[in-house]
Amino acid sequence: MNFDEIITLDKADPLAKKRLEFDLPANTIYLDGNSLGALPKSVKSRVAEVVSQQWGNDLIKSWNSHSWIDLPIKVGEKIAPLIGAAPGQVMCCDSISVNLFKLLCSALTLNSERTVVLSTKDNFPTDLYMVQGLSDLLGPDLCQLQMVEEQDIQQHLTESVAVLLLTQVNFRSGRLLDMAKLTRLAHEKGILVIWDLAHSAGALPVELDTCEADFAVGCGYKYLNGGPGSPAFLYVAKRHQQEIKQPLSGWMGHAKPFAFDAKYTAAPNINQFQCGTPSVISMSALDAALDVWQDVDMLQIRHKSAGLADVFIELIQMNNCLTDLILISPNVAQQRGSQLAFSHDAAFAICQALIQKGVIADFRAPNILRFGFTPLYTSFEDIWLAVTILVNIVESEQYKESRFNITLKVT
Ligand SMILES: *Cc1c(COP(=O)(O)O)cnc(C)c1O
Repeated sequence: MNFDEIITLDKADPLAKKRLEFDLPANTIYLDGNSLGALPKSVKSRVAEVVSQQWGNDLIKSWNSHSWIDLPIKVGEKIAPLIGAAPGQVMCCDSISVNLFKLLCSALTLNSERTVVLSTKDNFPTDLYMVQGLSDLLGPDLCQLQMVEEQDIQQHLTESVAVLLLTQVNFRSGRLLDMAKLTRLAHEKGILVIWDLAHSAGALPVELDTCEADFAVGCGYKYLNGGPGSPAFLYVAKRHQQEIKQPLSGWMGHAKPFAFDAKYTAAPNINQFQCGTPSVISMSALDAALDVWQDVDMLQIRHKSAGLADVFIELIQMNNCLTDLILISPNVAQQRGSQLAFSHDAAFAICQALIQKGVIADFRAPNILRFGFTPLYTSFEDIWLAVTILVNIVESEQYKESRFNITLKVT
């Protein structure tokens, strides 16, 4: 692989022009869109308009005149096609953590003769924390967390499990779980499944309806580019919507919020999953960010994502760097999400040195260096430059300098 071949790949890339829709900083190669997506240009003007015109001028009238009240549903419906969901099943609201609380309670109630929530030891910690908190609240007779290794999930799908809680793409290793197969096996044992799509939505084609998933949650600020603290989303399969009740029974989930009735009556549809007033400015940002996807084919995203990562691995290999940097993601693109993870004892310092040289990657404790690939705005040339810089840092051992070894609060 040489530089000319890299340029040829960029020239043949049908998504290359999408980069123009983003505001990217100069002299920066951004390989962290899996943690915080880049800024779509459309978001800037939208947020400015929402603040100065809708809020500043139109004030409270905007709940109706600018349809603020419908944003959670409207944004949910824009996310739906990206995750293979037919209309009426996706709501944009709250954070993943809060949405998990609602869905875990709902699922445990549906399967109330069982108590176990099965998940993986290396699931994203907030997912596990939310089950632990719920278990403390309800007591072990109603909710118990069981954690197993990712490769052992299948053998633990037993009749005592109420809910299987899985993240489709592992946040550290990038390993992709087989949603269709695991959902089917779980259903055969009467288990309900909640999928966390934090590293899937916008990263690869997801087929919630086809897989007959029960519930899902996902993130607005990663591959969907909604901005820091952007609201999350949740999915509830239509077949469950009539029979379930979520416990955070705030007024926005009421069948008639503006009747101001003292008695709570849940909305008979996905609206029930709202709790309080939506954060209009952030949700408007996400709404505008989602327009970027309108003409995008998720198969093209998947194809390019695999290509970017494969080129990354090949270049590292070509430079004989794979003895220092150990690939902990699957070798085969079909078994990965849209990121690569390498382990190295000095991963933190290497990451700091990369950032100082304009390559933004991230570090995950204890020793993992993570690179995210966002096909909408990452080019093959970016990968070439990033690997050149990475190899140089590793070979020269520059990362040993003390300035790259200072602890930070957020990594
Ligand atoms: C990023 C991420 C979250 C974030 O949860 P919030 O409550 O929205 O902050 C949850 N789960 C996974 C797997 C993640 O990667």
